[in-house]
Amino acid sequence: MFQLILLAFDGSTHAQKAATLAADLARRYGARLLVLHAFDPVPDYLGEPFLQQAIARRTEAAERVAAEARVLLEGLSDLEIEILEGPPAEAILRAAEVRQPDLIVMGTRGLGQLKGLLLGSQSQKVLAHAPCPVLLVR
Ligand code: ATP
Ligand code: MG
Repeated sequence: MFQLILLAFDGSTHAQKAATLAADLARRYGARLLVLHAFDPVPDYLGEPFLQQAIARRTEAAERVAAEARVLLEGLSDLEIEILEGPPAEAILRAAEVRQPDLIVMGTRGLGQLKGLLLGSQSQKVLAHAPCPVLLVR
């Protein structure tokens, strides 16, 4: 049923729980796990040298999040971790169109500060537009 599972990971507690669940499903189904982490593009009006510095900071931060995912998912045999540039939901949906996963797993909430929300904006967008089933983890 599940051959390719896509996990959207932002390092948040919810995403960590989503990672544990996605890893369990991947093991049970013998599925490949594709982990995506997106970072926001740096506005180019910054100008040099600030632009290069800002890009370096964002890519380093993204690599740290990817490394956290790698530690959490250590031991999974078929694991791929990709860093994408762009607003998270758009990046996840684009990747889902290209890679055609059988399932997307993500947290209900992420790193956002608005405590009252039940669903974060990125999970809402992915849920609304995904081409496959979506599993939201709380
Ligand atoms: P908001 O971003 O709207 O302020 P939030 O941060 O609480 O709210 P979301 O960003 O929608 O909520 O996060 C929900 C889930 O979406 C996360 O648990 C994670 O699975 C995924 N996600 C969020 N941001 C990213 C990202 N940059 N890269 C990959 N996945 C992400
Ligand atoms: Mg967020």
